[in-house]
Amino acid sequence: MNSKRKGESPSVDENWVVRPVTGQAARKAYLCPSCRQEISAGVPHIVAWQDVWPYSIEDRRHWHTSCWRRTHPSI
Ligand SMILES: [Zn+2]
Repeated sequence: MNSKRKGESPSVDENWVVRPVTGQAARKAYLCPSCRQEISAGVPHIVAWQDVWPYSIEDRRHWHTSCWRRTHPSI
């Protein structure tokens, strides 16, 4: 059975789980989904995912802290 809910807004901006990543923990570069620029290794940033079942570790996204704040000012 497909439990994906249809007919709802795809831009659900709730249920975000947000975790800060320290520079020491950022051991490789990531691509920020907001500005499409690389987040260099060693740069503190944000990792976030939507706590909506089902989700997997691949759903996690790494964001520049400034990009996250700009696009999700209330979270
Ligand atoms: Zn960015």
